[in-house]
Amino acid sequence: MRSFAFHRPTTLYEMSALLGGVADSMPLAGGMTLLPTIKQRLAAPAALIDLSNIPQLHGISAQADVLTVGAMTRHVDVAESELVRSKIPLLASLAAGIGDPAVRNRGTIGGSVANNDPSADYPAAVLALDATVVTDRREIAAVAFFRGLFETALEPGEIITAVRFPVPSAGGYAKFKSPASRYAVVGVCVAKKAGKVRVAVTGAGPGVFRVAVMEAALERTFTPDAIAAIKLGAENLSSDIHADAEYRAHLVTVMAKAAVKSALQTS
Ligand SMILES: Cc1cc2nc3c(=O)[nH]c(=O)nc-3n(C[C@H](O)[C@H](O)[C@H](O)COP(=O)(O)OP(=O)(O)OC[C@H]3O[C@@H](n4cnc5c(N)ncnc54)[C@H](O)[C@@H]3O)c2cc1C
Repeated sequence: MRSFAFHRPTTLYEMSALLGGVADSMPLAGGMTLLPTIKQRLAAPAALIDLSNIPQLHGISAQADVLTVGAMTRHVDVAESELVRSKIPLLASLAAGIGDPAVRNRGTIGGSVANNDPSADYPAAVLALDATVVTDRREIAAVAFFRGLFETALEPGEIITAVRFPVPSAGGYAKFKSPASRYAVVGVCVAKKAGKVRVAVTGAGPGVFRVAVMEAALERTFTPDAIAAIKLGAENLSSDIHADAEYRAHLVTVMAKAAVKSALQTS
């Protein structure tokens, strides 16, 4: 591992000054992805800017029908939050299913959303719930945030400060997980609000995506049977050691039906 400088700012102002002023600096959240990446020499930052001591990046709050989760909120805190469980139960169960206890005790929502791993769970919820990604510079709608494989709308030095989730009238998340890492081989999040339905899929392709044909069917009838006959084409889906594209296409339907079932049980 190459040596690097380490800074732990206590304000957003200090953080921005460091990220803007120190060449080749990178923000550090839970380190669950970034530290292995550095160890494997896939990244070589000259400085790490640790976000853990900035109070504005922590905490969960709710106002009317919006739940706000600070970027440095760990998966375990989302999973165990009574507020999250009461407002958006799917988010609590999604967080409880991420990785293992060590990963959930360090990994953060901001790190996961910024990283945009094609098999990560949070991007599916952020997209299906029509969430807003709040940064230190602006607010970005989920639909404009995720740009493909590990790519987002974040600009250099721009930091996610929170994610704002509108509370749906019904919602569910189901994933077929890798038995080793628990990352999604395929994960589907379904959310319903004001007659509109969103279906977002992670793990199946190079980035999270919506399935318009399922959304339309569920807007007509919100039951698992309404989408049972809808199968995606395998052309644009991923094949790897975990599953080939055909199998992933099959899993999208199975997981989408399970997500709707879960939504009906928890609404
Ligand atoms: C063994 C293992 C199993 C896992 N299983 C799962 C799983 O089942 N499901 C799943 O979804 N994930 C899984 N993960 C990923 C994990 O949950 C973390 O969410 C992920 O590693 C990134 O979060 P982090 O807080 O550790 O970020 P870090 O590793 O610290 O940072 C990741 C990237 O995001 C940037 N960054 C961090 N915070 C911000 C911010 N606020 N604003 C802008 N940029 C930022 C960093 O500079 C870095 O580039 C797993 C990880 C491991 C190691």
